[in-house]
Amino acid sequence: MSKLAHIRGKIYKTVARQLHGVVPCWVCGEHVLSEAATLEHIQPLSQGGNSHADNLAISHALCNHQRHALEPASARTSTPVSTSTSI
Ligand SMILES: [Zn+2]
Repeated sequence: MSKLAHIRGKIYKTVARQLHGVVPCWVCGEHVLSEAATLEHIQPLSQGGNSHADNLAISHALCNHQRHALEPASARTSTPVSTSTSI
């Protein structure tokens, strides 16, 4: 088990105890099941964040991936999101 996984379990348990069993996802706010939980860096490591518990939050693995997918690492998305419909 990695050090981060150990910290994740610790944070998960702490939050669950504080919020009476509910562990909200840092990204979407929904409850995260223990097996679906990943650690999210509140301030990304690339922006000077650290891996201390106070910079880490629980999120869904899916939300975590989506958030990182949205980060401007590949900032040339050619298709702008448009919901316009022709009337
Ligand atoms: Zn989520």
